[in-house]
Amino acid sequence: MLGLPASGKGTQAENVAAKINAEIVGIGDLVREAISDGNFSDEIIVEIKSNYNKGIPQSDEIAGKLLEEKINNSKGNLIFDNYPFSLKQIKFFEHLIEKYNFSEPEIIYIKIKPETSVSRITTRLVCDKCKKIYLSGSVGDSCSSGGCNGRLIKRADDTPEIMKKRVNFAQPRIDLVVDYYRDKAKVYEIDGEKSISEVAEEINKVL
Ligand SMILES: [Zn+2]
Repeated sequence: MLGLPASGKGTQAENVAAKINAEIVGIGDLVREAISDGNFSDEIIVEIKSNYNKGIPQSDEIAGKLLEEKINNSKGNLIFDNYPFSLKQIKFFEHLIEKYNFSEPEIIYIKIKPETSVSRITTRLVCDKCKKIYLSGSVGDSCSSGGCNGRLIKRADDTPEIMKKRVNFAQPRIDLVVDYYRDKAKVYEIDGEKSISEVAEEINKVL
């Protein structure tokens, strides 16, 4: 599942996950889990923490280790969240598909205009506990996700300037992945400018 920041991708991924009984796999979550669970060797954890604290992306090698660990511990369907996101990651993803005998991937791209991504963050809130993102302005002040009850806060880096940078980073990567798979797999482009329920309906129609 692909989408720009504030495309509603997280919410839609949860809907699809519930529908097809899948786990959502995102590198960011895997990094946070690795740091809190400590399932990896000290050496790797030190590197993961160091990258995380500096805010730099994990190396492809580490991302690969985290992904394989997750795949090995999962039984059912998987939804990859903005992964693969580079040509190198596509190659690795293809290797994983072959190695684990996955069926052909289906790409759901929730497409919004870059301006929409930037403007939506003015109302975006994130749970300080489970990191769930809320795009609507009328959600109250605590997290409604399965008894989480975390506090909903505005992220300090949710400024238009930083958002533009994130959009400029993500858009060419999304385009690359969509272009790569357009002739090789099922690619569904969903209009993410619509409401959450309309987008959910569109996705339900194609899956
Ligand atoms: Zn929460």
